[in-house]
Amino acid sequence: MKYDVILIGAGPGGIFAAYELMKKKSSLKVAVFEAGHALDKRSCPIDGEKIKSCIHCKSCSIMQGFGGAGAFSDGKYNITNDFGGTLYEHIGRKKALELMNYVDSINLSHGGEGTKLYSTAGTAFKKKCMQNRLHLLDASVRHLGTDINYVVLEKLYAELKDKVDFYFDTKVERIEVQDEGASYRVFFSGEAGKTISEGYADGKFCVISVGRSGSKWMESICEDLKLKTLSNRVDIGVRVELPAEIFSDITDELYEGKIVYRTQLYEDKVRTFCMNPHGIVVSENTNGIVTVNGHSFEDENKKTDNTNFALLVAKHFTAPFEDSNGYGESIARLSNMLGGGVIVQRLGDLERGRRTNQKRIDESFVRPTLKATPGDLSLVLPKRILDSIIEMLHALDKVAPGTANEDTLIYGVEVKFYNMEVVLDENLETEYRNLFCIGDGSGVTHSLSHASASGVYVADLIAER
Ligand SMILES: Cc1cc2nc3c(=O)[nH]c(=O)nc-3n(C[C@H](O)[C@H](O)[C@H](O)COP(=O)(O)OP(=O)(O)OC[C@H]3O[C@@H](n4cnc5c(N)ncnc54)[C@H](O)[C@@H]3O)c2cc1C
Repeated sequence: MKYDVILIGAGPGGIFAAYELMKKKSSLKVAVFEAGHALDKRSCPIDGEKIKSCIHCKSCSIMQGFGGAGAFSDGKYNITNDFGGTLYEHIGRKKALELMNYVDSINLSHGGEGTKLYSTAGTAFKKKCMQNRLHLLDASVRHLGTDINYVVLEKLYAELKDKVDFYFDTKVERIEVQDEGASYRVFFSGEAGKTISEGYADGKFCVISVGRSGSKWMESICEDLKLKTLSNRVDIGVRVELPAEIFSDITDELYEGKIVYRTQLYEDKVRTFCMNPHGIVVSENTNGIVTVNGHSFEDENKKTDNTNFALLVAKHFTAPFEDSNGYGESIARLSNMLGGGVIVQRLGDLERGRRTNQKRIDESFVRPTLKATPGDLSLVLPKRILDSIIEMLHALDKVAPGTANEDTLIYGVEVKFYNMEVVLDENLETEYRNLFCIGDGSGVTHSLSHASASGVYVADLIAER
């Protein structure tokens, strides 16, 4: 089977690349190979009753399938160069913002109209943060919400499905460079075999967009094709849950405040991440390791009384240690070993050095939105990380009084794994001509807006070529 363009992965990067190719050059024959299911088949079997924990499905419906890791996410598209990736280092700040705004316009025309765009421009909260050693990052945030985000994906798929060949439940196993880059042969396993009996397909252009779930696979491809890589980082922390009123000054105006703090004790940077006003705390499974995350909804009926957000400490490692993700995984495994999954602790108990038990949770004024195991996070998180998190909670208490209350719930652990970064040029192209790497799988982006923008960018370039 011969294609003009082969896209590997149908997350935001792959979807927006396909969408842009369809718009800019509909004559191109495009295929998308996706290891996970089609959107309507994506469903995690954990129901909290019959199936309580991960049963290690062949493809994880939370992280894989049409929509990628972002399909059930809160759908926060941050339009900024301040965080979410370093796309601007490759394509320039102006272009990156232009493309993120373009992606926003596509989301709006596919079901996102009417959703709110929040902005930090002119907020008095910035000054309040500075006066308390906190730094508020600049951004505009389109909040689709988990429900509308899904609708947008449904509409995009409806528009794409007759113009692009989608092969779901099909994992690309390896890529072979043909005739020094004249074309790329992708060998796959799975459902596509029913249509393409050879077990491979050729594309003049190949765009790899395998996201975080494809990080290990990406490493093997880099080894195979001798692609140069960089980086050694992991972010480790907790998810904080408290009554929504405590953060309402911030969330009503900004929806999400990305706040960075440098600790006095170690001069380590701690940052807030993924704020979910009136949201829920959820557990997440990455390669069999259960970590914590958060969601929120636009639908009034689904809103809770609580707000949650992550506090993360970035760990950069230097030689001889190379396996930063392995380090993060080990810490998450430790919490899984002690708690059977996610552990929850009251801040008051954590600071007193005692375990939270079910009785203390029941007596707490904050009702947890995730059924996690009450426990002791000091047995899981390294002291330096825990000290930094507690210090930041007290700093936040000055701008949002009540943050460091005894009943504030701390869930652990939250780990943000980073893909190693593939060395790419200003076209997001590898050392091989017409072999591109985009989205989180490239290590260049870590967010919906940057990943989507990278897809549009490469699609435009391919259409031109
Ligand atoms: C619970 C959760 C909430 C989030 N919330 C937000 C948010 O609100 N805002 C935000 O900006 N970001 C959020 N993120 C991060 C965001 O989802 C990612 O940054 C984004 O999805 C990256 O897009 P991508 O296309 O690069 O990769 P992904 O979305 O990870 O998609 C990659 C796809 O490639 C497929 N794949 C992998 N390997 C192969 C292979 N070998 N063959 C075929 N297919 C393969 C995978 O199955 C997957 O579907 C969230 C993430 C999670 C998990």
